[in-house]
Amino acid sequence: MPNKTFFTVGPTELFPEVKKIYQEALKKKIFSISHRSLEFSSIFNLTVNNLKKLLNIPKDFNVFFLSSATECMERIIQNLVLNKSFHYDNGFFAERFFNISVQYNKSAEKFSSQYGTGTDFKNIKLPENTELLCIVLNETSTGVALNINDIKRFKQKNPDVILALDIVTAVPYYKIDFRYIDCAFFSVQKGFGMPPGLGVLILNEKCIKKAEEINKSGISIGSYNNFLKLKENFLKNQTTITPNIPLIYILGKISDFLLNYGIDKIRNETEKKAELLYNYFDEHNFIKPFVKEEKFRSKTTITLQTEIESDKIIKTLSRNGFVISYGYNIFKNKHIRIGNFPMHRIEDVRKLIKLFHSIKLD
Ligand SMILES: *Cc1c(COP(=O)(O)O)cnc(C)c1O
Repeated sequence: MPNKTFFTVGPTELFPEVKKIYQEALKKKIFSISHRSLEFSSIFNLTVNNLKKLLNIPKDFNVFFLSSATECMERIIQNLVLNKSFHYDNGFFAERFFNISVQYNKSAEKFSSQYGTGTDFKNIKLPENTELLCIVLNETSTGVALNINDIKRFKQKNPDVILALDIVTAVPYYKIDFRYIDCAFFSVQKGFGMPPGLGVLILNEKCIKKAEEINKSGISIGSYNNFLKLKENFLKNQTTITPNIPLIYILGKISDFLLNYGIDKIRNETEKKAELLYNYFDEHNFIKPFVKEEKFRSKTTITLQTEIESDKIIKTLSRNGFVISYGYNIFKNKHIRIGNFPMHRIEDVRKLIKLFHSIKLD
């Protein structure tokens, strides 16, 4: 697929910098070094530090490298829930998190909102003895973004509960105050414009203590990638297993690139592009934003419902050099989704919008 621009929600277009970074790493033979070498530890350390700077993660937080965001969900359930997890569910990724807890025989409960809507959490009461609260900040399957301050207030009402936040398609755009979050995770093939295959789990000491407690009670917290093993290795700037060294290396470099580019600039640009798209589709005859309440509309994953088959739109755009995503699951043929991440250029957004003029209802 030469010369196509990926406006998909993930995997998506890569930062052009990825190619240079990869070539440089090949030249330096970084992909052949041992994950127990000093050289690897210094790469690990640099990546952790750059990421902490970029996302404003407090110094005392741990950063674990896993294989995907879904693996992060599973490790979180294993290590942070003895009995009870509670899930806010308004989409398929929240549902996945909930199902993992059920599969581990935990007592998982959820509060469900209609897909395409959100909540300010004011009417949600946590069941007694809830240990873990799971929330997806930006639900990629429906295009709903929750308000970070609403989540903060909800957590402040329930200070003893551990909060695990899925920030997969949210970062780096959404600003996250890690002081009230115990645990957050993402994978790199979305807003970080990198190839897939790396999950990043960020958590505080409260989570480590909880894992210790569960471990002591005799319940399994998993084997090679449990939080205690991960922490032990993290202290040495290492991973438990031979990790995805290429992506850990690239993540450090991309974070540095974004830091130099300026996170405020990224946020401004993201908002401008989102505004162009939403303004256009608010006025469109048969392709409309799926999320009706403006305050819940995601800035990074624009989800649109269409009266004609999504397939027809997607194929037309593809013939003209642009790839966008189908709807998720049951919405496959009824929705289209457009990624709006930092590597997407405003002039390409304008071109994409222009192409929609040629799509007719028939
Ligand atoms: C893509 C996505 C995931 C799953 O990520 P993987 O890296 O494929 O496991 C989880 N949550 C959200 C919100 C996502 O968009």
